[in-house]
Amino acid sequence: MQKKIIDKQEIKSSSSANIYETVLYEDSVSCNCPAGGKRSFCKHMIKIIHDNNELLQNKYPDFYKKLSEVLIMKNSSDKNSDAYKNLLSEIIYVNKEIAEKSHNNEKNIIKKEQISLNEVIKNIEKNYSSEEQEKLLNILNSIKPHFNDVIRYLSEKHKFIN
Ligand SMILES: [Zn+2]
Repeated sequence: MQKKIIDKQEIKSSSSANIYETVLYEDSVSCNCPAGGKRSFCKHMIKIIHDNNELLQNKYPDFYKKLSEVLIMKNSSDKNSDAYKNLLSEIIYVNKEIAEKSHNNEKNIIKKEQISLNEVIKNIEKNYSSEEQEKLLNILNSIKPHFNDVIRYLSEKHKFIN
């Protein structure tokens, strides 16, 4: 049976060229971003719920109550509890198509970050003396296992500064 759709949003990713589709149904919510495909409550879901807050409250009070519980638990220490996970599996909808798209979206982000690492190395080779290059490449090597996290942190930070 087809689920009844309340709202559908396309959201451009802030960290890649990906476009995510977030759908609000009368009893659940779905998103094909990397997190949504793994049944995590992502910021896109929060936005679409927020945008339809009044409608949900008035027309779908039972679903609205569950969403409110999830939002409270997400911001508390209950986040790792089974109750939270059970509630998420109840309200986050994932099918084969959403899971596949989510997986591809994640791959695109990783690809983009690998290009960034190569660009950093090229820049070092172009702009620094061989002595400095050696030092910088050593530093780069030591953070390499965490490079994706570092880049993600820096790009988020950049957003805050602006
Ligand atoms: Zn999402």
